Amino acid sequence: MKPSQSQKATSHTGGMNLGQLCPHCAMHFNTVFDLKTHISWVHGHLLPYRCKECGRGYNTSGGLHLHKKTHKGVFYRCPICLLRFVQKSSVKRHMINLHGDSHTPIERVHDFTNTFG
Ligand SMILES: [Zn+2]
Ligand SMILES: [Zn+2]
Ligand SMILES: [Zn+2]
Repeated sequence: MKPSQSQKATSHTGGMNLGQLCPHCAMHFNTVFDLKTHISWVHGHLLPYRCKECGRGYNTSGGLHLHKKTHKGVFYRCPICLLRFVQKSSVKRHMINLHGDSHTPIERVHDFTNTFG
């Protein structure tokens, strides 16, 4: 038996980013969106509104209502990175924030086979 005290910290992140802290498990996230996704999945049981189909939790009935649309297979898709959203406004915000593009038309997709999340 030999003591192993190798605490190797790989720091590839380049600088401290405080980001968003999950109040339930103290995990860090870069964006509020990431944090909300994490909470609705991992801590969904703590939230008042829950999807019966997949167990995700939401703080508001509106959030749950929007989420339920994903089970109906209707999405809006970012034409640049093909990420899917339930709300058209979310795609628009995503496109401006991530791609700096607010002109490319947003795609509406029907996909009943592959619900995201
Ligand atoms: Zn958490
Ligand atoms: Zn669901
Ligand atoms: Zn995108």
